[in-house]
Amino acid sequence: MHEHDVIVVGAGGAGMRAAIAAEEEGADVALVSKLHPVRSHTGAAEGGINAALREGDSWEDHAYDTMKGSDYLGDAPAIETLCQQSPDEVIKLEHWGMAFSRDDDGRMSQRPFGGMSFPRTTYAGAETGHHLLHTMYQQVVKRGITVYDEWYVTQLAVTDEDRPEERRCDGCVAYDIQNGDLEGFVAPDGVVLATGGPGQVYDHTTNAVANTGDGPAMAYRAGVPLEDMEFIQFHPTTLPSTGVLITEGVRGEGGILYNSEGERFMFERGYANNDGELASRDVVSRAELTEINNGRGMEDDYVHLDMRHLGEERITDRLENIIHLATDFEGVNPLEKPMPVKPGQHYAMGGIEVDENGESAVSGLYAAGECACVSVHGSNRLGGNALPELIIFGARAGWHAAGREMETAEIETGPGASIEDADLDTPVEPGEIAPRSGTGDVAADGGTRADGGAQVMGAAETVERAVEAEHERVTHLLEKEEGVREATIRSRLQKAMTRNVNVFRTEDGLKQALEDIREAREAYTDVYVSDPSRTFNTDLIHTIETRNLLDLAEAITLSGLARTEFRGAHWREEYQDRNDDEWIKHTMLSWNDGQPELYYKPVVLEGENKTYEPKERSY
Ligand SMILES: Cc1cc2nc3c(=O)[nH]c(=O)nc-3n(C[C@H](O)[C@H](O)[C@H](O)COP(=O)(O)OP(=O)(O)OC[C@H]3O[C@@H](n4cnc5c(N)ncnc54)[C@H](O)[C@@H]3O)c2cc1C
Repeated sequence: MHEHDVIVVGAGGAGMRAAIAAEEEGADVALVSKLHPVRSHTGAAEGGINAALREGDSWEDHAYDTMKGSDYLGDAPAIETLCQQSPDEVIKLEHWGMAFSRDDDGRMSQRPFGGMSFPRTTYAGAETGHHLLHTMYQQVVKRGITVYDEWYVTQLAVTDEDRPEERRCDGCVAYDIQNGDLEGFVAPDGVVLATGGPGQVYDHTTNAVANTGDGPAMAYRAGVPLEDMEFIQFHPTTLPSTGVLITEGVRGEGGILYNSEGERFMFERGYANNDGELASRDVVSRAELTEINNGRGMEDDYVHLDMRHLGEERITDRLENIIHLATDFEGVNPLEKPMPVKPGQHYAMGGIEVDENGESAVSGLYAAGECACVSVHGSNRLGGNALPELIIFGARAGWHAAGREMETAEIETGPGASIEDADLDTPVEPGEIAPRSGTGDVAADGGTRADGGAQVMGAAETVERAVEAEHERVTHLLEKEEGVREATIRSRLQKAMTRNVNVFRTEDGLKQALEDIREAREAYTDVYVSDPSRTFNTDLIHTIETRNLLDLAEAITLSGLARTEFRGAHWREEYQDRNDDEWIKHTMLSWNDGQPELYYKPVVLEGENKTYEPKERSY
């Protein structure tokens, strides 16, 4: 058993910033990560970090753009915190040694990004995330923060009171990927989840194979509500054959989108008469797919992104990485030809419900970064707003867990914030998982799902009990000799989600997806791991991850089916309008007693000095 005051699960931008903050506050903190910190997916971030740094810009304008981009589903207190604190956090990164791109006069360069009214995206070439991760890791090493890398956290250790808001998170269980040991981690001051996005729910994604939404799935099973899961961002410029991202920075620098008729369709077909290619991502993705569906795409599959007119010198200076990505992954040299691009899954706006201090409904459990929903992005994230979220809300979660007095949160969490229950007809009963054979009442997710019958236990005891349940689950998976391979189930699930829970959504499609997910769930009850070894058993890790993908796919689809309006990234064929009278509310999904419960809580539109009145969103 290991013990640290604070355990941070995940060592990407959010996790490392949380750990540094906890250390700043004097805590003994450890990072536990399935990847080495600098292999985290933050390293793939290309375009930049938004911060109102220059004369002529202001945090208020950044906040306005963000609220508009969210289609009035973001919470003002969180958005304002993001925009007020971003300049200081970006300057702190610079002081820590991050190699930002610079103008001739020495100031950090800033470029335009979609949906922003000012060029406020600070960047380091087209490798911003890589530099951010390395800068942060240097701080982690310098401060002597303990790092357990290649440790896979399989379960949270949470007490089992009936009501989630009465539960306590005492630590977690992690599997040592190098040798197969399962060990408990006790964290008296708190566990911060910073496990990144769930992109692997889809088969065409910009996200890494490791992005399997483990944190939200574990929190959900422990009774913590998930928020706004239906809002998935599809980035308009991904390479068709792999999903590799071509940064919005290309359009920020002046890149142009063309259809097969040579039209600059964002303007010529009237999708965004003012901002064209730099409209918000949801708008550009829908425009591209509309062109493709109407026969004006190339090979019925993609459109062209052309940056040749920017000139080799400027491209090499600011976007060099893009030349390599397009050449290596698509065989197209963008200095000579336009790049083929199409929309691909990129980001989850929803996640673990937390307040501005990173706290969830379960005491001692925090979350930050893409796995959390605070919510600054509402129904659509603006490019360049995720990286500031990591460092600002990562730091706040770390400080709070380590005991710093924080201002009382204005955003309420937990079932107490409910304003109404959802009324939803589903084609299948969601959420049930058949018990594993021969394991009594231990559920297939590992047996620590809170299910009533509270016992008074100390922290070490809660963690010990969770370790035993995980031991049983892993042994079962390794000893089972035949069944269905997880790769088959994962691929079926990803295809179902890409087919029916994509940019364009219909009621029948969403219902079909739920049926497909249910079938995949059933197949999972017979899953087996073909590699019985305990050393670097990636088959076992992927099998546990696929369980998490199933839960999140269902949460995304159920939440999407329930939201009968078109807002931000959530387009519904049957409901073509944003319905502010009924739908300015967050979708909440909570799994308690083995049943998902869908309810709503209010969006906070009141900021520090003003209320953000919903307006028509055009670009
Ligand atoms: C290709 C790409 C480009 C992007 N570009 C930009 C950009 O330019 N600007 C911007 O603002 N945003 C950008 N984004 C979004 C942004 O980069 C991500 O949202 C953000 O980096 C996520 O950071 P994170 O710290 O939350 O998670 P990650 O960086 O993904 O880190 C997750 C960590 O959790 C660990 N982990 C996960 N599960 C477990 C487990 N079960 N046990 C132990 N450890 C676990 C992993 O090892 C990893 O260390 C981009 C996203 C992508 C995909």
